[in-house]
Amino acid sequence: MRVAVFNTKPYDQRFLERANTHFNHELLFLEPHLNVRTARLAEGCEAVCTFVNDALDAATLEVLSKLGVRLVALRCAGFNQVDLRAAANLGITVVRVPAYSPYAVAEHAVALILTLNRNIHRAYNRVREGNFELEGLLGFDLHGKTVGVIGTGKIGAIFAGIMLGFGTRVLAHDPFPNNDLKVEYVGLESLLAQSDVISLHCPLSPRTHHLIDASSLKHLKHGAMLVNTSRGALIDTPAAIDALKTGRIGALALDVYEEEGDLFFENLSNQMIQDDVFSRLLTFPNVLITGHQAFFTNEALENIARTTLENITVFSGGVGTMFEVPTK
Ligand code: NAD
Repeated sequence: MRVAVFNTKPYDQRFLERANTHFNHELLFLEPHLNVRTARLAEGCEAVCTFVNDALDAATLEVLSKLGVRLVALRCAGFNQVDLRAAANLGITVVRVPAYSPYAVAEHAVALILTLNRNIHRAYNRVREGNFELEGLLGFDLHGKTVGVIGTGKIGAIFAGIMLGFGTRVLAHDPFPNNDLKVEYVGLESLLAQSDVISLHCPLSPRTHHLIDASSLKHLKHGAMLVNTSRGALIDTPAAIDALKTGRIGALALDVYEEEGDLFFENLSNQMIQDDVFSRLLTFPNVLITGHQAFFTNEALENIARTTLENITVFSGGVGTMFEVPTK
């Protein structure tokens, strides 16, 4: 099948080309993001392949449909960026990669916790400048602490297992408890009040939008560390900034940010950041931010490439499994 691969980074091309030796699709790699203005680049293609920050709104889907595109292959799990109703009305099938490496994301959350707690990011810079002072680098033993996990699906369950290995007590909150986990399920307020470290692993939905806001933060144990590797809008960022200023949030680690669409995945080092909320976050010594890289491991990219191409193969009549997004 001829596929327009939008928003291609060099690593996307590397992994897709390597996986494609088993599938033989015709891949047209394009650097621009997909939106209503760039959609025409898909001319002559029956499928488009896109990422989390491509816009698949009704207008874009309509242009794609007129060009003869019948399949949108998302090379990610989330599909909140797709107007599914418009896709269904236009007869466009939308497929995704539901799981590619829960270990990648869970391990990144742990990396953030250890880095922030022991101030590795600051120590790295100090040592390079010949500053071996320890003042300001004080951390705490994770062993014996209480860790709260919000969402114990694929990623949260692995994260909880790693935390148990550190000798922590693990509390969890999830509307669908997993009884195989050696964790104690509690209500959200109780989890926030008891946990020294809280890690978010639930999806973004109307119910979880701003799950962490001024009102829920009132229940947070004073000085707790909050970690978000899930979706930016789970946290009301201005409320988190207020809580950092009072010390209620003792440390904040983010791999995702509510307004990340204008920032992440691009090199903006020669430009001024226009987002003042994000810029304020960068001023705190106890805030650590990575740019949506939790998924970014070899294993995850291999799985994303293979599943994406298999989805396309099955759509075009081949054998395998296709992971279709519900369009109604
Ligand atoms: P999953 O569907 O396996 O698990 C999500 C869990 O959250 C489920 O058990 C669900 O019951 C629970 N949940 C739903 N609503 C909840 C609520 N209100 N409170 C508490 N729990 C709730 O998903 P997963 O594969 O574990 O992924 C979790 C999230 O990680 C994804 O939704 C995605 O946003 C994020 N993610 C981030 C990256 C990254 O690179 N940073 C990569 C992949 C996924």
